[in-house]
Amino acid sequence: MKMKKLVLLLLMITVSLAAGKIRVIATIFPVYDLSRQVGGGLCEVSMLIPPGTESHSYEPTPGQITGLGKCDLLVYTNPYMEPWIEKAARGAGVEPGSLVNSCKNIEFLGGDSDDPGGKDPHAWLDPMNAARMAGNIAAAFERKDPANAEKYRRNAKAYISSLHEFDALAKTTVSGFSKKKFFFAGHFAYGYFVKRYGLTYDSPFKGFSPDAEPTPKALARMSDGIKKAGATVIYREELLSSRLADALASSGGLTVLELSAAHNITKKEQSGGVTLLAIFQRNLNNLERGLK
Ligand SMILES: [Zn+2]
Repeated sequence: MKMKKLVLLLLMITVSLAAGKIRVIATIFPVYDLSRQVGGGLCEVSMLIPPGTESHSYEPTPGQITGLGKCDLLVYTNPYMEPWIEKAARGAGVEPGSLVNSCKNIEFLGGDSDDPGGKDPHAWLDPMNAARMAGNIAAAFERKDPANAEKYRRNAKAYISSLHEFDALAKTTVSGFSKKKFFFAGHFAYGYFVKRYGLTYDSPFKGFSPDAEPTPKALARMSDGIKKAGATVIYREELLSSRLADALASSGGLTVLELSAAHNITKKEQSGGVTLLAIFQRNLNNLERGLK
């Protein structure tokens, strides 16, 4: 009789676990989207950073840190993008095994001349790194929810193959460009992207974070470069003021187009269900308009 009761109890626990979705909190947009794709409806995924917020200067509020304790998995991009994550996770009581570094085993690019010891955090902008991140996230989901391991593996495989398709398309598209250099009035976020596709670019900003003001010398150098290259488009980054791009554009009759590093999205994009791949595609289309 006791044994029967135990079996019944175990069955009830199993059923209740299966009915509940694992709760995932992803810090910023790239890992939010990758978690959604890999979770495929089996997980409840929320994004920690509010839409529209600048992600480099973002730190969670005490209330948000408390909220982190309620998740089963906390997924972040990497320690260079979210240097506050370990402390916040400890403060919220998130077990070390539930904290997921999506860029584990990814090789980071180094800093620029101003910050030679630094690392470039924008690894997700190389679609092959995004594919590795999807694999790391799937492995964490499988460990947390082994009953659905096969489904997570399948979802990750499908998304990774879409990233490979985009990569092939990007290579073909870029090979048709007549110009290989673009001008960007934002912070240095495209190191991984340009390395992957053999492009170069100029930005008047130094370093990886958008909190610095460009010097007049850097602006003059960029303005000269634009004229010499015969550029027709200047690119601006997402979510920040386009003041600088507008000023450079109006002096040379250029068109301003957006190139999103996908740090974060707007409220409108979030309600429209934008994906990382859709942003990659939009960037490629805008680059084609300026460089073909
Ligand atoms: Zn950035």
